Amino acid sequence: MIKQLELKLLPKEAAIDAIVYQRAVQKSGWNPNQDYTFQIVRRSIDARGQQPFVRLQVLLAKDAPIPAEPALLAEFHAVDDRQKVIIVGAGPAGYFAALELLEAGIKPIVFDRGKDVQSRRRDLRAIQQMGIVHPHSNYCFGEGGAGTYSDGKLYTRSHKRGDIYKSLRLLVEHGAHSDILVDAHPHIGSNKLPPVVANIRETILHYGGEVHFNSAVTDFILKDGKMLGVIVNDSQEYRADAVILATGHSARDVYYLLHQKGVAIEAKPFALGVRIEHSQQLIDRIQYRQSPREENLPAASYRLACQVAQRGVFSFCMCPGGLVVPAATAPGEIVVNGMSMSRRDSPFANSGTVVAVELEDLGTYLKEGVFSSLAFQKAVEQRMFQYGDGSQKAPAQRLTDFVKGKISASVGPSSYIPGLISAPLHELLPGFIYDRLKKGVQEFGKKMHGYYTEEAVVIGTESRTSAPIKIPRDPVTRQHTQIKGLFPAGEGAGYAGGIISAAMDGQNVARSVALYLNTH
Ligand SMILES: Cc1cc2nc3c(=O)[nH]c(=O)nc-3n(C[C@H](O)[C@H](O)[C@H](O)COP(=O)(O)OP(=O)(O)OC[C@H]3O[C@@H](n4cnc5c(N)ncnc54)[C@H](O)[C@@H]3O)c2cc1C
Repeated sequence: MIKQLELKLLPKEAAIDAIVYQRAVQKSGWNPNQDYTFQIVRRSIDARGQQPFVRLQVLLAKDAPIPAEPALLAEFHAVDDRQKVIIVGAGPAGYFAALELLEAGIKPIVFDRGKDVQSRRRDLRAIQQMGIVHPHSNYCFGEGGAGTYSDGKLYTRSHKRGDIYKSLRLLVEHGAHSDILVDAHPHIGSNKLPPVVANIRETILHYGGEVHFNSAVTDFILKDGKMLGVIVNDSQEYRADAVILATGHSARDVYYLLHQKGVAIEAKPFALGVRIEHSQQLIDRIQYRQSPREENLPAASYRLACQVAQRGVFSFCMCPGGLVVPAATAPGEIVVNGMSMSRRDSPFANSGTVVAVELEDLGTYLKEGVFSSLAFQKAVEQRMFQYGDGSQKAPAQRLTDFVKGKISASVGPSSYIPGLISAPLHELLPGFIYDRLKKGVQEFGKKMHGYYTEEAVVIGTESRTSAPIKIPRDPVTRQHTQIKGLFPAGEGAGYAGGIISAAMDGQNVARSVALYLNTH
């Protein structure tokens, strides 16, 4: 017999299994002198009151142990001689599509323009320390995709889009800590995610799939409205039964190529703004009303949103105990993003703070047609770069000066390793973005007392929150609306935002490909 129980414990109590067990037995009303098995199935922090608590859902079993779930990998098949599907992009969408294909007995052949997850590190150091942006290997490109050197937040609100639990279990079966199955806001951390990504690659290879690095897809083989294969590095030709295109939101060359080949793409609304950094101690004090926070509480986070002049202004990808990182994918642009290690122990807390951009906001950029959002995004990133000294130093302002429209006498401290340049972000940002951000951050200061402070630093630009282009696909078959055998997937196609939603989209698309291969 199994009972599911809800417990509310102090953080220091929730950290000790023996105490959790004892409280569960007490609550169950069962004989305290008998032995039971127990399992925590849900854990969340409740910081609404004066004292933060940990809320747990616990299974307690008597007579028989709690049954273990069979491994998902046990369902995989060797696929050496099976039908072949090309996957362009080894990000979460591409790799989870590959796993799903293996499960369906189909051979995935993955190409990524970047390097394997370990070799990527050297190029990340080059951006951080020397300001050199490698166009194929950076925070967005390379094995594992954009989310690999990130905070590794695995929380998604896309509950209707797929099987979140399956994606998380696959991560656990590839080495992620099983806590991610339990935590209400799971995260892995930048130091723990790369080995998990490498293990996924090993699974693909083990069952007979292929993974090719330093392999940029530079052309598509199209005939009579059908995708037959791809050209890699301008020279090698690969053919397959279908192509999954999962190249992420930063592969601008892929969008240009599709358009040039007459493959339909569409301009898409997106979001753009800045990253705002506070001290983690301040965020802990605001959220937990404790300073320093007690030992067993995680670094506090926040999520803020409001409407200003009919557009959403919202915090995005909040990284408690994290770092702001340079996420440009080409020389001559400044793009920032956030990451953190599994312990989330840096003294800083940062989040993207962005404004929703609708196509009608784009003014003269609309003449760029399907590239209007992309052209706007690119122009802002380049303007930020041109203000600087040719390095990856990012333009920045104190939050209070940002609102006053005044250059700061000094900015920092900050976690951003390339360094900051005091700059008039109020002039560098497009007017409609600045005006809304200015009102938005003041509103956030009212919702979260202490947020609006001169200690906080505003850093430009947070511009890659989502894809500026959509690659349209049929909602049922997930096939491109016009090209047979082409399956757009993940964030770059406009169907996901975040690691888990991209992973789920990859899985969904792979299932659609399996159906397509069965019927063609
Ligand atoms: C620094 C940073 C931190 C982030 N933190 C988080 C987080 O904590 N939680 C979260 O949910 N999301 C986070 N994100 C967002 C998340 O990474 C993306 O939503 C997710 O990775 C999208 O997955 P994808 O597979 O669709 O595309 P991507 O991850 O972008 O993968 C696309 C892949 O395609 C490859 N590629 C591109 N063009 C070509 C080509 N022509 N030929 C071959 N290969 C190509 C790229 O090299 C890349 O590996 C973060 C992003 C960044 C940059």
